[in-house]
Amino acid sequence: MFENTDKTNINELGEFGLIDHLTKNFEIKKSTTVKGIGDDAAVLNPGDKKVLISTDMLLEGIHFDLAYTPLKHLGYKAIQVNLSDIFAMNAIPQQVTVSIGMSSKYTLEAIEDLYEGIYVACEKYGVDLIGGDTTASKQGLVISVTVLGYADEKDITYRNGAEEGDLICVSGDLGGAYVGLQLLEREKMVYLENPNIQPDLEGKDYIVERQLKPEARVDVVDLLKSRGIKPTAMIDVSDGLASELLHICKQSNKGCNLYEEKIPIDPMTYDTAREFNLDPTVCALSGGEDYELLFTIKQTDYDKIKHDVDVSIIGYITEPAAGLNLISKSGQVHELKAQGWNAFE
Ligand code: ADP
Ligand code: MG
Repeated sequence: MFENTDKTNINELGEFGLIDHLTKNFEIKKSTTVKGIGDDAAVLNPGDKKVLISTDMLLEGIHFDLAYTPLKHLGYKAIQVNLSDIFAMNAIPQQVTVSIGMSSKYTLEAIEDLYEGIYVACEKYGVDLIGGDTTASKQGLVISVTVLGYADEKDITYRNGAEEGDLICVSGDLGGAYVGLQLLEREKMVYLENPNIQPDLEGKDYIVERQLKPEARVDVVDLLKSRGIKPTAMIDVSDGLASELLHICKQSNKGCNLYEEKIPIDPMTYDTAREFNLDPTVCALSGGEDYELLFTIKQTDYDKIKHDVDVSIIGYITEPAAGLNLISKSGQVHELKAQGWNAFE
C-alpha cells in the first residue's frame, strides 16, 4: 500500500524534525490557550469555567482498515469522534492533543496526509492543536486524541438527567455508517479476490461518507442553544442507538418507550441494508459510528423544536418499572437490548 520507494523515510527527519514539519501550519486561535506545542507541557486558561476532557484511541486493524480508509479521512475522523464527546456534554471543544505511534512502513507523505485531515478538522471546528506525542510502533498505526472544552456547570448535560415524560430525540439519521462499512468491506473482498475489478461504490456516496468522514454535530448544540433548550440528558451515538439509550436510562434510573417507526433511517441506508440482507432497524440500533446526538428534552420544550426536520422525536422516558421497550412497527413490545434485535423473535 505505502511503498517506501520514491517516498521519504521518516527517519530522515528525526523525531523533532517530524513534529515541527507536521505541526508548522497549525496556529493558536483560542484565548484559553496560553502555550501550545513546543514546551514540556501546554498551558491553558479556563477562566472561571469547568474543564471537560475526553480521550479516544484508534488502532489499525481494530478501528480502521487502511485498505479503504484514506489517511486524510482517518485524521479528520480521529478529531471528529473526540469533538463529538464534548458536544455530547453540551459544551464547545477548544483544544486537542494528538499522539501517534507508527511503524516503519509509514512514509512522511503518509503521515502528512493524516495531519492534513487533522488540520482540516481543527480549522473547521476552530480548535487548537496544543501538543501530543510521537513514537515508533512495532506494527501498524495508533492515533490517540485528547480533547478539552469549557463550560459553565449550569450548561453541562450529563447522561443521568432524564426524567419521566421527557421526549427522546436524535439528530440526523442512523445506521448509515454501519451499512457504509459493510459496503466497503464487501468491495475490499471483491478487490482481494480480483485486483482488476475496481470498487463499485457508485451512487453510495452518502453512506460511504457516513463511515469515512463523520461530522460531529456542533450545529445541534447551537440549535438547542438558540431555541433556549437545555437537554435533560445527552450522549453521542458511537456504539448504536440501543446502547446509548440504555446508558441514558440506566444512569438516569428510568425506563423508555422507543418507537421503531420513528427511528430516522436514510433511504440509501435502508435500501443498502436490504441488499445485504440486514434489518435496517438493527443497523440503526446496533451499528454505531453515526456520531449523531441522542438527547432528552422536557415536553414543554417540544414546541420549540417540532419544526426542525433534522431532529426526530423517537420515544419518551418512563418510570423505571415500565422497562426498556422497543415498540415495533407492528405494535409488538420488545425489550431493548444493546446488541441486535430480531424482528421475528
Ligand atoms: P517531551 O520529550 O517533553 O515529551 P516531545 O519531544 O514528545 O516532548 O514533544 C515536543 C513538543 O511537540 C511538545 O509540545 C509535544 O506536545 C508536541 N508534540 C509531540 N508529538 C506531537 C504530535 N504528534 N502532534 C502534535 N504535537 C506533538
Ligand atoms: Mg513526548
